Amino acid sequence: MPAPRLEIDLDKIYHNATTLVTRLARRAISITGVTKATLGSVEIGSTMLRAGIAALGDSRIENIRAMRLSDSAPSLKDVPMTLIRSPMLSQAMQTVLYADCSCNTEIAVIEALSLAAGTLNRTHQVVLMVELGDLREGIMPEDLIVTVQEVLDLPNIEISGIGANLACRSGVAPDSTNMNALSRLVDSVETTFGMTLETVSGGNSANLAWALGDEETDTGRINNLRLGEAILLGRETLHRRPIDGLHTDAMTLTAEVIESKLKPAQPTGQIAQTAFGDPAPASNHQGTVRQAILAIGIQDIDPAGLQAPEGVEVVGASSDHLIVQADRTELLVGQEIPFQVKYSALLRAMTSPFVVKVFGDRAAA
Ligand SMILES: *Cc1c(COP(=O)(O)O)cnc(C)c1O
Repeated sequence: MPAPRLEIDLDKIYHNATTLVTRLARRAISITGVTKATLGSVEIGSTMLRAGIAALGDSRIENIRAMRLSDSAPSLKDVPMTLIRSPMLSQAMQTVLYADCSCNTEIAVIEALSLAAGTLNRTHQVVLMVELGDLREGIMPEDLIVTVQEVLDLPNIEISGIGANLACRSGVAPDSTNMNALSRLVDSVETTFGMTLETVSGGNSANLAWALGDEETDTGRINNLRLGEAILLGRETLHRRPIDGLHTDAMTLTAEVIESKLKPAQPTGQIAQTAFGDPAPASNHQGTVRQAILAIGIQDIDPAGLQAPEGVEVVGASSDHLIVQADRTELLVGQEIPFQVKYSALLRAMTSPFVVKVFGDRAAA
């Protein structure tokens, strides 16, 4: 098989997705399956649909477009798709063309979506995102009512709901305080305007501990979560703990050894900047070590997001070289080394054209 490669076990992703669908259904919460870490993979998107997820979301309209236009997955042609990052003004037309719905925080963008939707003779749905403390995207709660009024005045736009996103920029944990605040905002919009909000999208994989952790938790008005990482890697994202009953090894990255030598643990000569300008992490080894180089680099993975097999340690990386140390076993030139990936490595591996994606087991679509 070609190297480097990312092997993706669609059976495990199917299992993770269907398990989360069932568990969240007990709390009357639906899932929007988020494909952004997979470059909008058609195989993964359609696996999520087979597993009972009824809508997909991605942060890039290019990924949504690719899924929509794929001939290999008819199920992706008309499944509801949401652009979960606020659309660029310059992409308003494409957003309306390929996504049914988008998450929004800026009236200027929604006005552009309204115009584009008018031109295309369509209605575009918007989810208004509110700021609940993580300080990434969101309308300030005190501005929500005015914004809703402005959006209601626009033609060809429908407010499908309200949403929030936590634990991304600042790591703020979703809890009953901020989730109850979201429910109260929903109530106040509904009472003020005499309307019903269909979707209340409470957050991402970081919300699972709150949503499923305690039977007593009142999930209030929240009826949707946008989930990517929990489905793909089987972990909640506040502490990266494995979620009970899910597979954490659906993805395996394999790279090939191109050099294997005994080398000094410490560099020789005057130390200045590295290829990326950062200081090199100091090695805490002395004497001679068994070092190998794998043909993969920062262009393809985040070295900090790799979990090496027992006895192998990642000690450095540049654009095209990953340096590992394996003192107990001799790695041979041509040997393949498998790694488990964290989110950062998965994201980059899926995006790199040099990493071949190999889908295991179930047929796509
Ligand atoms: C990335 C993202 C998600 C999904 O996050 P996961 O941690 O992968 O579940 C949900 N909502 C928004 C707005 C996002 O940007």
